[in-house]
Amino acid sequence: MPTLANQRCFNHAGREAVARCPECRQFFCRECITEHDDRVLCTACLAKLARVPFAKRPAFVRVLRLARCAFGILMAWFFFYLIGELLLKIPSSFHEGTLWRANWTDQE
Ligand SMILES: [Zn+2]
Ligand SMILES: [Zn+2]
Repeated sequence: MPTLANQRCFNHAGREAVARCPECRQFFCRECITEHDDRVLCTACLAKLARVPFAKRPAFVRVLRLARCAFGILMAWFFFYLIGELLLKIPSSFHEGTLWRANWTDQE
């Protein structure tokens, strides 16, 4: 089991290691390690972690925005389609006012 005390930096063979990167499990000196979100990472892993969200986030947001936009258009189309259907189903007598009059006289 290798201990931190007798380990050398992964990048600098002449330097003593001060920390171990939890991502790549390599030992690094103070210069090669950086703190990020309460975690100690080597510069290579930090760059790897920093690159992933930047590459993924815009695509995800774009897809989400597109889906929301498409859904909105679909809902609007469905809404107007329903209104159109309703207007077609209503008999022309309704627009003339005769249907209302006929219904009221039936009920009384
Ligand atoms: Zn690392
Ligand atoms: Zn180093």
